[in-house]
This record gives sequence, C-alpha cells and structure tokens, in this order.
Amino acid sequence: MSFVRLLLAIAILVGATALALFYLSPSWDPREPLDLRAEPGPMASLKLSLLARQSEACFAAFEASGLTLRRVPDRPSDTACEVENAVLLPAGIRATPRDPVVTCRMAAAWVLFERHALQPAARKHLGAEVTGVRHLGTYNCRNVNHAAAGRRSQHATANAIDVASFVLRDGHEVAISRHWSDVESRGAFLRDVRDGACRWFNAVLGPEYNAAHADHLHLDMGPVHTCR
Ligand SMILES: [Zn+2]
Repeated sequence: MSFVRLLLAIAILVGATALALFYLSPSWDPREPLDLRAEPGPMASLKLSLLARQSEACFAAFEASGLTLRRVPDRPSDTACEVENAVLLPAGIRATPRDPVVTCRMAAAWVLFERHALQPAARKHLGAEVTGVRHLGTYNCRNVNHAAAGRRSQHATANAIDVASFVLRDGHEVAISRHWSDVESRGAFLRDVRDGACRWFNAVLGPEYNAAHADHLHLDMGPVHTCR
C-alpha cells in the first residue's frame, strides 16, 4: 500500500469512528454516564466495571439516574481497611440491619442487581415481590476467610455484602441456609438470584463454593471475577 493510500485509510477510519461516537445512543456510548434506571444496554457491564477506577463517574451515574445517594465520610486506615467513596446502600428494598455502608460501585451494582436479577427471579419463581433483604454485614476489617494471615477481604474496604435471606411482601422469608437446596420454587429462586448476580457483581460466592458460604451469598466488586 502506498503512503498516500495508508493516510487515506487512516483518515477514513478516524472519520468513521468520530461519526459513530457522535451518533451513538447513550446506552452504547462509553463516554455517557451509566444510567441505572434504563434497561441495561450492551455497555452497561463495561461501564459498571470502569467505576472501580472512577469514583466520580460512579457518583455521576447516580446523579444522571436521578437516584439519591447518602455519602459516608472517608475513613483512612493504616491497616488496609480504609473506607473511600462509600455510601449507605441505596436499596429499593428494606435492608436489615439498616443502612449498611458500601463503596459507590457496590451501590451501583446493587441497584442493577435488584432491578434486573432479584425482582425478575422473584416474579418468575414465586410470583411475588421482594421487599427486604437480611444481610450479615458489608464492612469488616479482616482477611479473606477470617484467616490470621493472607490478603484482605473485600469486606475490609466495604466492597462486599453477605446476603442471608430475602423477605417477600407477604412476610415470607427465603433463606440461603434453609432453602438453597429446595427442589421447588424457593431453591430455584435463590439459584437464579445467584446466577443473575454474576452479571452485576465481580465475585459471587454461595453454598456451592464451600461450607463457609452455606448460609449466605457473598457479593463483591473486587478485582477477582468469579461466580460459584
Ligand atoms: Zn462475604
């Protein structure tokens, strides 16, 4: 290829890219904030993962989505247990204990999880709406598996939540510890919730992972991607 043709090819490529970016719909455009209320487009997972390194983009996503966040002051730590860019979990359902502290990106993943995994699974398997979640904690300055040595857990930076059960509108509770292995609807609901969570959280660990997770689903936005 001659030099002129190469230049021409590059110019066409750059022009086409610029044109595509200009006309992209917001859900396709990686420059647009993640809209947490819209049907998740093809870029939603990518935009969500980018929030890990762009805390301001996370707060911008909530603002662009018209969702109110209650921010928590940063808490420095010299034992790798700092809390930064944290908020109170903006759950549409009632969290017990109330107002767990999570990182902004955990909050964003939770909003998407609740809308596009949790409630659809409840409607499908139980014909019901989830109105509450019981959890075993989000922030806990400790290592993985409570080990004396090793790397810090994502809980050490409020970048995780342990979900024990979901409460339905009629008051019934579906618990990981009691209903995970049910062959009927409650077990199918919980397993579907686990599978759906894998789209929005980086790591999802449940009873099928190990005995330590027999009574809860661990959801986090750390660097390790796993779904078990
Ligand atoms: Zn956990």
